[in-house]
Amino acid sequence: MSARSAPKRQSAKTPALSLESKFLRLGLMSAEDFVLHLPLRYEDETQIMPIASARPGLMSQIEGEVVRSEIVLKPRRQLTAVLRDESGEIHLRWLTFYPSQQAQMTPGKRWRVRGEVRGVRHGFEMVHPKVSVAGAPLSMALTPVYPTTDGLSQASLRKAIGSALTTVDLCDTLSHTIRSRLGLMELREALQTIHSPPADLDPTSLLEHTHPAWTRIKFDELLAQQLSLAAARDQRQVRRARPLGPVVSGKQDASLTERLLASLPFALTAAQARVLQEIESDLGRSFPMYRLLQGDVGSGKTIVAALAALRAISHNAQVALMAPTELLAEQHFNKMHSWFEPLGVKVCWLAGSMPVKAKRESLEAIRSGEAKLVVGTQALIQEGVEFCALGLVIVDEQHRFGVSQRLSLSRKGEDAVRGSVAGTTLDLIPHQLTMSATPIPRTLAMTFYADLEVSSIDELPPGRTPVVTKLFASDRRMDIIAHVAQACAEGQQTYWVCPLIEESEALDLQNAVDTYAELVQALSPRRVGLVHGRLTPAEKALVMNSFRNAELDVLVATTVIEVGVDVPNASLMIIEHAERFGLAQLHQLRGRVGRGAKRSVCVLMYQTPLSMLARQRLRAMYETQDGFEIAQRDLDLRGPGELLGSRQSGLTLLKFADLAQDGGLVVVAREQAIVLRETDPQTVRKHLDRWMRGKEDYLRT
Ligand code: ADP
Ligand code: MG
Repeated sequence: MSARSAPKRQSAKTPALSLESKFLRLGLMSAEDFVLHLPLRYEDETQIMPIASARPGLMSQIEGEVVRSEIVLKPRRQLTAVLRDESGEIHLRWLTFYPSQQAQMTPGKRWRVRGEVRGVRHGFEMVHPKVSVAGAPLSMALTPVYPTTDGLSQASLRKAIGSALTTVDLCDTLSHTIRSRLGLMELREALQTIHSPPADLDPTSLLEHTHPAWTRIKFDELLAQQLSLAAARDQRQVRRARPLGPVVSGKQDASLTERLLASLPFALTAAQARVLQEIESDLGRSFPMYRLLQGDVGSGKTIVAALAALRAISHNAQVALMAPTELLAEQHFNKMHSWFEPLGVKVCWLAGSMPVKAKRESLEAIRSGEAKLVVGTQALIQEGVEFCALGLVIVDEQHRFGVSQRLSLSRKGEDAVRGSVAGTTLDLIPHQLTMSATPIPRTLAMTFYADLEVSSIDELPPGRTPVVTKLFASDRRMDIIAHVAQACAEGQQTYWVCPLIEESEALDLQNAVDTYAELVQALSPRRVGLVHGRLTPAEKALVMNSFRNAELDVLVATTVIEVGVDVPNASLMIIEHAERFGLAQLHQLRGRVGRGAKRSVCVLMYQTPLSMLARQRLRAMYETQDGFEIAQRDLDLRGPGELLGSRQSGLTLLKFADLAQDGGLVVVAREQAIVLRETDPQTVRKHLDRWMRGKEDYLRT
């Protein structure tokens, strides 16, 4: 910013914040904090540019003599001046200014000015340039520009960081041997380079964080992350949970699991059996399970969750199953109810929209322990829900929940279980299983989920035929409708998905309503239904049930069907304006078909012209159905923040490393973390102190 922005007139009423408190706002206290406060970019003050070579958009430093200056009143009061050197003239302009600045611009005076050049009608100008003494020595290094806070100047920061660099006792947490094996720069040298790059260094590699100095910083950051996640994992193993081991046979409940398995029309796939075993072996321990169950859409996570729940229930513990939308929660409820009720296990429904009386009954059944499995939405974590003996919490599609919700539920479980188990005074925490249908690339799982155990269902149930994906430009709408009519004639069911129109929910709805009307007419006498976000949960359930019971041939839907809906007879999916959807979303949607034995088709309708990104997404959809492959491409296209939802991801903790770009570093950092933890706890502590101070709380989630 220009000199103008320094607040010269502090009002007498609000005392100026001290420099320390401003530093504190940036989290800067120790010398180490300061040297790890890294520049966002650089200014080149190593050279003076002739005015004639100024170009719009370029930060430039020039020197010259004021040839004239005046205060202009129109269109608003402002100070203007013209500066000249041997090569030409440039205009300077201040929209607000102090009398001292006006005095500076007295004709005949020489100044060095710096700012962004803009092209204007009468040549070039700089607005609010930074003004300094002409002829002063030029910097030898690029000038760093740091992240700052209100009222804290770059000059103060530079000074403080510069002096910290000379005084700090910066021991390198990586030994010489390790550095040379991993090809990493020494820490002090890396920091020196980043804070004060030599004038002849191309700043691009610094700005893009590809310079070896940055590689070292990113490595250290990732190492700290791996170390703290490992520590968090250790810490949790100190906590107690009720062990839910195999039930001794002969007991009446011993066969709950077998009875459910026997009632199913299918046998578990090998992958399902394997992950169930992993989960059950965790459940048997006396410290809480934190396990992520990931598996592509349609891989059959629900039955695995049900079997895990039965294990807990056979111990007379309660299980909470939470889903992100009421529609999905209700579908889970129906499924669980149909599986569990014949076994005499009471399943209870809890959602925000329930009638007061029904809700009171549910709450009572939960409190008394009569309800063994409680299925619901976020309502499950609201105040007033008291469990009798919560032993296992299952969260479906967990990427849709924020970390805070995940936390709150596990706290609730902690409170609920605490003291509720007869004959024990231990603080018990429920086991936790989260399920995700967004497969996560390995490097991402290593960081975001490094504190969780991960189980993957890597095979689909047998008898599925791959979905054929077709791309159609939207001007072939009539052909597509004919296609749908044909499918109806063959007794197949069709989803027709209308896109979310970001700008307007009303338009969004209108669009779905119009499409519905169009299809009702075009397909008559076929039965067409409509489901969208404005319907009440009961209305939605009604439409979904008709579709599930094949009372509807075509279901027009906004993206509400995105997660988890399971109608095996639906074998055709039309996605309108597929170019507006994200890759993960398209993959989820497509996963709604191809669930039965019939050959399924997914038609992606798109509007031309396609953006580069949209084209790549559609191509990925066309080329592959492998969820992991899709996730990797999504990561490449969008970056990890968006993939996981940046706010909740904990990735915000990574200031410098970029998981899309630095996957290789993650792997090395993880290996190094394991070695360090085993051999050198003191260095581990030092490294964590340096990088993680003030962040431990967040990581503990
Ligand atoms: P998701 O992993 O997406 O939640 P679901 O649990 O909804 O998948 O399962 C998708 C469909 O596959 C359901 O209709 C379910 O009953 C069925 N299914 C699950 N496991 C098997 C299996 N081992 N064999 C055959 N069908 C299965
Ligand atoms: Mg599911």
